[in-house]
Parts: sequence; structure tokens; C-alpha cells
Amino acid sequence: MRIVVSGGAGFLGSHLCEALLRRGDAVVCLDNFSTGRPENVAHLRKFPAFEILRADMSVAVDVHGPVDAVAHLASPASPPDYLRMPLQTLAAGSRGTENALELARRNNARFVLASTSEVYGDPAVHPQDEEYWGNVNPVGPRSVYDEAKRYAEAVTLAYRRSLGIDVGIVRIFNTYGPHMRPRDGRVVSSFITQALSGEPLTVYGDGKQTRSLCYVSDLVRGLVAMLGSSETGPVNLGNPEEWTVADLAELVLDITGSHSEIQHHPLPTDDPVRRCPVITRAQERLGWHPEVPVADGMRRTVEWFRNRLRDDVAEAVS
Ligand code: NAD
Ligand code: UDP
Repeated sequence: MRIVVSGGAGFLGSHLCEALLRRGDAVVCLDNFSTGRPENVAHLRKFPAFEILRADMSVAVDVHGPVDAVAHLASPASPPDYLRMPLQTLAAGSRGTENALELARRNNARFVLASTSEVYGDPAVHPQDEEYWGNVNPVGPRSVYDEAKRYAEAVTLAYRRSLGIDVGIVRIFNTYGPHMRPRDGRVVSSFITQALSGEPLTVYGDGKQTRSLCYVSDLVRGLVAMLGSSETGPVNLGNPEEWTVADLAELVLDITGSHSEIQHHPLPTDDPVRRCPVITRAQERLGWHPEVPVADGMRRTVEWFRNRLRDDVAEAVS
């Protein structure tokens, strides 16, 4: 298979590119490097079947040669990233998704959309299964991301219904692991970086809000399964182990051995109170379920951040 991964230099995209290359696929990574980094895929250049092209998915894209599948991951994903790039985020979800779908249509390829649990907004139903329509504030600051992804899902299914394109939608819940940007503002990357640097851990609100945390290798197995199936979805991909943000802060302090204090900051506007996936559909249709317990995944992630921050310090000193 020759697979296009848009957003392939980002956190999830770089792991997906690697998983596909390791099983013998050819991979074309398209990225505009707005939130991703070339270092995330530097180790993949040794694979002759790996191509990387700078491309903005919101502008028309073309890829020479045959394409068997398109995985569309290109979009800012961390709240501080999409809040500082609101128009680019809307464009990535709308025009970017249309361009990725067109690429799939021209090549008669399968198309998989990386959607998000944010389509459920601040959910009034708990836990969330795929039948739930969500509770999104359409004019709040987060709407640039949530509504862009809801449009992306709508246009993806319209391509299937009107043009017969083979599409699949996954709704990804909070995922963490190596290759996150240390200061991207997401909760796991922030807490680990703060703990390792001896800075206070910034807990927003009272810390009682919950998220479900999936380790990246589990998530990527789900993406690969979706690419290889003919399932349309939407399918939730996430770890149903639910954590409060306050407990997560304690876990990070415990694993890092840090004596950082915990500092409370105001809760961002429209911050969802609870979030946890029902994954029955993923289990039944893709044979997928997460395997890495949060404490294990967090230990691996802390180790990666420790090495990464050490390299950064060494580079700054030399
Ligand atoms: P990320 O920011 O690390 O990666 C996104 C990548 O897309 C980056 O490399 C960025 O440079 C690239 N990109 C952004 N806009 C682009 C454009 N217009 N053209 C080309 N490239 C562009 O984020 P991530 O966590 O790896 O997320 C990847 C995808 O998964 C996103 O679509 C995100 O919405 C979705 N997702 C992620 C999570 C999560 O917890 N990580 C949860 C839900 C959904
Ligand atoms: N959060 C926090 N401190 C931080 C970053 C995030 O307490 O430094 C909280 C945030 O308010 C939210 C949860 O952690 O309740 C997850 O935030 P993240 O930005 O990682 O993801 P999302 O809100 O998109 O689920």
C-alpha cells in the first residue's frame, strides 16, 4: 500500500508513519509544520519508502503516483494552538478535509478522518458513545476546532453518500506519549515538562474535570485497523480509564519524583467537565481495545521527555 498521511510530522502522525513503514507500506507525509516538527520524522528518513513534502492541506494538494489510502490528520490539536490559529484551524477542518477527500477520490483510495471527542463538546451524556450528537457551543472560542471537525465529519459522509468514496471516521479521545511538543499546552505535556523543570503544575479550575488518556501506541493500532477495514464509523478510539486532572497531576509528581507545587489557574471557557469513551463499537468492528495502562504509558512518556529536555539543555549550553 502507498498511504498519504497528512499532518504526518505531528505527534500522532509521526507514530502512524512509523507503524505503516515498519509493516512495509510506502508513506507520503504531507505537513506544513505549523505545529509539527521535522525532528518527529527525522528517524524515518532511513526508510526508502518514506517521502516527506511540505504542503498546506488548506490549499489544493497533489501527490504524484498511485495512492491507496489517505489518513487526514492535519489540524492544530492542542487548545492553545487552535486558539492562536483560529482561521487556520477552521481551514484545515473544512478546505483541508475537502482537499484530502479529493485526493482520495482521484485515486480511488480509502479515506480516514482523524476526528475528535471534541465533537461531543461538554457532553450532557456520560460516557459518550457514537450515537450521542454532542453539546457544542457553536460560537465559543473552542468552536473553531469543534465545529471544524463536525464539518469535516459531515463532508466526509457526504463524499461517501454522493460519490461513493470509501471513508472512515475515528473520534480520537485524549492521547499522550513521545513526540508531544513539551510546551504545547496540553495537560500531559505541560505537567511532565513542569514537573521535570521544577516549575509549579498548572491545574485549571479545581482539577475535578476528567479526561480518558490513551497511550499513543494503542491509538495508532486503532488508526491502522481503521485504514485496513471498510468500516465507515464514526468509531470512538480512546482509553475508557477516566482520570481527574488533579489525580493526573499527582501521578506525574509521583513518577517524576518532582517536588513541584500545584498551582490552580482559572478554568478555560467551555472546558468539558467529563469525558470518557464507550469503545464497544471499536471492539466489535475493529477488534480494538487499548492495552497500555495509564501508569505504564506515563512512565514511558516521562522517560522520553526527560531525554528530550536533557538534549535541549545540552544544545543550549554548547
Ligand atoms: P499535532 O499538532 O502534533 O499534529 C498535527 C499536524 O498537522 C502537525 O504536524 C501540523 O504541522 C500539521 N498541520 C496542521 N495544519 C496543517 C495544514 N493546513 N496542512 C498540513 N499540515 C498541517 O496534533 P496531534 O495530536 O498529532 O493530532 C493529529 C490529529 O489527530 C489532529 O487532526 C487532531 O485533531 C486529532 N486528534 C488528536 C488528539 C490527541 O489527543 N492527540 C485527540 C483528538 C483528535
Ligand atoms: N489542563 C490543566 N492544566 C494544563 C493544561 C490543561 O489543568 O496546564 C486541563 C484542561 O483545562 C482540561 C484538561 O486538562 O480540563 C485537558 O486539557 P487538554 O488541553 O490536554 O485537552 P482537552 O481540553 O482538549 O481535552
